[in-house]
Amino acid sequence: MRYVSTRDSGLKLSASEAIVMGLSRDGGLFIPESIPALEQGAIEKLCKMSYQDRAVYVMKMYLDEFSEDELKAFTTAGYGPNKYDVPEVAPMYKLDDKTGILELWHGPTCAFKDMALQMLPYLLTASLQKTGETKTVCILVATSGDTGKAALEGFCDVDKTKILVFYPKNGVSDIQELQMVTQSGDNVGVCAVYGNFDDAQTGVKRIFSDEDIREKLERDGFFLSSANSINWGRVLPQIVYYVSAYCDCINNGTIKNGEELNVCVPTGNFGNILAGYFAKLMGVPIGRFICASNSNNVLTDFINTGVYDKNRQFYTTTSPSMDILVSSNLERLLYSLTADSDVVKGWMNELNSVGKYEVSEAVKTAVQAEFSGGFCSDDEAAEAIAKLKNENNYLMDTHTAVAYKVLEDYRIATGDDRPCVVVSTASPFKFCESVLNALGVTEIRPGCDVIDQLSEVSGVKAPLPLLTLKDKKVRFTDVVEKAGMDDAVLNMILN
Ligand SMILES: *Cc1c(COP(=O)(O)O)cnc(C)c1O
Repeated sequence: MRYVSTRDSGLKLSASEAIVMGLSRDGGLFIPESIPALEQGAIEKLCKMSYQDRAVYVMKMYLDEFSEDELKAFTTAGYGPNKYDVPEVAPMYKLDDKTGILELWHGPTCAFKDMALQMLPYLLTASLQKTGETKTVCILVATSGDTGKAALEGFCDVDKTKILVFYPKNGVSDIQELQMVTQSGDNVGVCAVYGNFDDAQTGVKRIFSDEDIREKLERDGFFLSSANSINWGRVLPQIVYYVSAYCDCINNGTIKNGEELNVCVPTGNFGNILAGYFAKLMGVPIGRFICASNSNNVLTDFINTGVYDKNRQFYTTTSPSMDILVSSNLERLLYSLTADSDVVKGWMNELNSVGKYEVSEAVKTAVQAEFSGGFCSDDEAAEAIAKLKNENNYLMDTHTAVAYKVLEDYRIATGDDRPCVVVSTASPFKFCESVLNALGVTEIRPGCDVIDQLSEVSGVKAPLPLLTLKDKKVRFTDVVEKAGMDDAVLNMILN
């Protein structure tokens, strides 16, 4: 099994090399040369397995240098009972005969990023060994909220790794900040930056390309790497839950094996929905992919017109993890549809230089054969939260609500009544204030009290990692100017 760069299909690497490298030197992303197919009868077998075993089965097909025992150890640890608060790991809530809600937020940080970031540290450290790398890897993350905490929790006390997270001082919610600054572990660091997310992100990118810092770290046996969703080691664990969701829909009577199942995914960077597309290429009978956006609807327009244009107003919404104008993982879909790295490279160069590209008629048709796009406003998402709570007594977060509303619109517009899974990406308790507002509550209690408030209003218990937040000690209080990020990195790693 070889991996190629989306911008140079002549470059072929092993899985472990691709995971260690993260991003290709030509700026492209790594993608399997061909997608492996599930064998006859695989779904029947997978239906009877635990989530951990389904993960071993699926990941093994992509990682031929890894033994089954190795992968079994990873999934036992990463998706085990001290990490996930339900044995199903990714449980399917059956809303009605035709609609399931796939809850991906039962992990340690209560957002779906855990599904990948509980696995990446194991894949990465094993890949380092397989490629003969002996230096300690230092993960640098700039976060707007969810990724930072999930990466800290994933890499916490993992041998031969260090992790340092930068977040914008006034750009994350109180709960998100507390989650990060109370992080345990001897190999972790957290630092706030004066400025917005872009400032933190730009600072991290600059450090990555700084030869001086690179040399200093190398002398002491360290090297820098990234944990964001361009790494194949983050996409792969996400394929598993689409295979798993299909099995669960058979097991709970929503579909018969072989019947088509649609999926609707709240989308930002396009990593989550892309993993579903790979599951379909493996042979899972997924029907249509409904790509749901908030007011930052660049993907809706792309799917409808074939033009990707990031030159537009940026909106700050109540689903902040989807406030994205450049969806990096779309590049993998384009390569998958064209198998032409020169063409993809051309479009990405246009995106860099003028912020816009248009795919060919054939590619547009191929995209539309699989994907439908839709978006909704904050108000519409809030109405969906209230409606589901009142009619079904089901509480969902703002990101999931975007997907639910877009699915409703899709069903009315198309009449497509195939069963559908709505992918739920965060616990409602991660976005208490917006969810309370949606339920008609406008007086919000300060700090962690808002968690109890949402519990009282909704009658739903908050996840333990959020409930215990108020008792945790704050360990990290540093705030630096953008220019001070270099020193923060060197201090954390070398001291
Ligand atoms: C990251 C995130 C998303 C977007 O997922 P992508 O893989 O970037 O499309 C959606 N919802 C939540 C809660 C997230 O944290």
